[in-house]
Amino acid sequence: MDSSREQVAVPEITRDRIHTVDDDSFTADNCCIVTGGGSGIGRALSLAAAENGLTVVATDIDDDGLAETVAHGEELGIEAPIETVTADLTVDDDVERIVDEAASYGDVKYLANVAGMQHIDAIEDFPMGAYDRMHRVMLRAPLYLTKLCLPHFRETDDGRGCVGNMASVHGHYVTAEKVAYNVSKFGLRGLTQSIAAEGDGDVRSFSVSTGYVKTPLVANQIPDTAESRGISVDEVISDVMLGQARNDEMMEPVDVANLFVLGFSKLARHLNGGDLLFDGGMTLTYE
Ligand code: NAD
Repeated sequence: MDSSREQVAVPEITRDRIHTVDDDSFTADNCCIVTGGGSGIGRALSLAAAENGLTVVATDIDDDGLAETVAHGEELGIEAPIETVTADLTVDDDVERIVDEAASYGDVKYLANVAGMQHIDAIEDFPMGAYDRMHRVMLRAPLYLTKLCLPHFRETDDGRGCVGNMASVHGHYVTAEKVAYNVSKFGLRGLTQSIAAEGDGDVRSFSVSTGYVKTPLVANQIPDTAESRGISVDEVISDVMLGQARNDEMMEPVDVANLFVLGFSKLARHLNGGDLLFDGGMTLTYE
């Protein structure tokens, strides 16, 4: 593999890369729902939340991916349980089942909306079916899950809970031919702030916005981006994915997982409605 391809190879997660916070609420009595738990950032977060002592309910449409997440947790020797719920976030009954099953494993206190996908097409050509699917997975399901989790948060001993939403640099500025993604990520930041507005300080929310992270979602879109822009695969990595960032290295899923752990923890008690913009300077610097 040449050096720029290596830059997007999906890295193994090791236990020493996971940060832990000493937090009284990070116990196995409390449950953290993680969508997209079968791959990439959601898998890393499932491992990191369990390493921090929480009972994790990892959910995904991809059953095999969830099994790999559990196997990975076992390989790493992580003690807190990682339970799984196979569910399609476009189906309301499934969304309801996720929260019901999570409540059977512990007190639902944390929700991480991570699942997502990409579709690249100009607005004029954008298939409305793809738009609807992305909207349902990346915006409607996070709202519906939040709605269903809120009563559980409020029922816990201290009445507190927290929602973390995986946004993106595409929730701050946009690139062409990703309209559904851009709209979803801007919307997710709106959802984050709406939760803060209604949470009365007891229910917090935050979003995480990163540039490109080494996950299958990124690796899979490289050929399409190269074709639509008429550039090489290596140019996609160096010019598009790292282009405006001030560092020359892409983030790893575990780096993003650590940001969620921080956001859920007591260290972030004043983070409410805010966005953790960890993009290497991508959106705030120019040329
Ligand atoms: P990924 O493709 O590795 O994981 C996404 C997961 O979502 C998959 O396991 C997939 O099965 C699941 N999913 C898709 N449709 C679903 C459905 N209908 N129901 C249930 N689950 C479904 O991607 P990733 O890179 O880990 O991305 C995770 C999140 O991070 C996404 O919201 C993405 O937009 C965001 N993000 C990623 C990057 C990046 O560079 N990778 C950067 C910024 C933001």
